[in-house]
Amino acid sequence: MASSSTTASGNVPDHDGRFGKFGGRFVPETLMHALDQLTNEYKKAQRDPQFNAELQELFRDFVGRPSPLYFAKRLSEKVGGAQIWLKREDTNHTGAHKINNTLGQTLLAIRMGKTRVICETGAGQHGVATATACARFGLPCVVYMGEEDVRRQAPNVRSIKLLGAEIRPVTSGSRTLRDAINEAMRDWMSSVHNTHYIIGSVVGPHPFPMIVRDYQSVIGLETIQQSREKFGRLPDTVVACVGGGSNAAGMFFPFIDQAKVELVGIEAGGLGSAPGEHASPLSFGKPGVLHGSFSYVMQDVDGQTCDVHSASAGLDYPGVGPEHSYWKDSGRVRYTDCKDSDALAGFYELARTEGILAALETSHAVAGAMEIAREKKRDEIVVVCLSGRGDKDAAEIERLQSLSKK
Ligand SMILES: *Cc1c(COP(=O)(O)O)cnc(C)c1O
Repeated sequence: MASSSTTASGNVPDHDGRFGKFGGRFVPETLMHALDQLTNEYKKAQRDPQFNAELQELFRDFVGRPSPLYFAKRLSEKVGGAQIWLKREDTNHTGAHKINNTLGQTLLAIRMGKTRVICETGAGQHGVATATACARFGLPCVVYMGEEDVRRQAPNVRSIKLLGAEIRPVTSGSRTLRDAINEAMRDWMSSVHNTHYIIGSVVGPHPFPMIVRDYQSVIGLETIQQSREKFGRLPDTVVACVGGGSNAAGMFFPFIDQAKVELVGIEAGGLGSAPGEHASPLSFGKPGVLHGSFSYVMQDVDGQTCDVHSASAGLDYPGVGPEHSYWKDSGRVRYTDCKDSDALAGFYELARTEGILAALETSHAVAGAMEIAREKKRDEIVVVCLSGRGDKDAAEIERLQSLSKK
């Protein structure tokens, strides 16, 4: 299953990278040429059967695709409503959906003759997936990571180093994902002649939101085919968590023209709805520019980007991909949020009923899907994107659990 622009609503983004009024390119002149080159090379690659065959072979033999669509029978019975099915991106090599994008972009980097790769990472999953793809193709790799996340996600930091990549801790600002993206962009401005920046979500200037969406669309395309095989129709509802929005975009995009399928994105509700307590720009933010793109952003009254909070490092981001802003305003996708405590409850429920440890990010989608399924009839079907596995979060979950008992 190849990338998807030809199979689903292929009208966005337009030539300027706009999804309605969102998206675009708000970057210094030095990056314009690189972004044009990337756009052109990506379009050529999409039409190149050899390129697509190589990516499909990597998906199959290196990642282990297709990932299963799995009926969570005991969880469904416990909830007592609709059937809950899990799209198991946690079974991918490196443990999350991130690898779908990093393999595609690494092949693009090689195609463009780039000899060095950089990336940012929050929870470390994108850092691991980028370091993995770079090791596989023998490219040097530098990973920018906020100092706070280096502390929170130690297992992934270790893996990144073992894979031969260099970690550069970022000490500016809130020392989290947003600052890591700033530093990666700064590196790219001075190294663009030989370096490709593999951005980890459907954010940043055009063409990144389109490219990442397309490489992640393998999730939704497989789900459509597996739904036909396993229950002979499309699901009634599809649910995914939204940080930058790449697992959700990859899941939703192939369903966009299927108006009967309800699409629900779950943001990080953190501790509550007050500014600074959550990371839900689609629920509480305002349109503005962040990291080269126009989209919903958490801002204070002066228009400065706010600090945000989530228990999960991968959702701890004040912005969101521009296509999600477009889907929100058009009403095609419904966005809601899930608190830290509810995500933790979802994590335990899935672990104890199904024997699956989900990532903290993913647990937001699990909790959201349980709430949705509860209100539905037994013959209805809810599919959740199980974006990643939770081994990396074991220590943090233990800590959160002991805090909540005090
Ligand atoms: C990175 C990550 C996310 C959040 O990123 P999106 O771009 O919103 O998908 C969610 N789940 C897992 C497991 C992740 O690693």
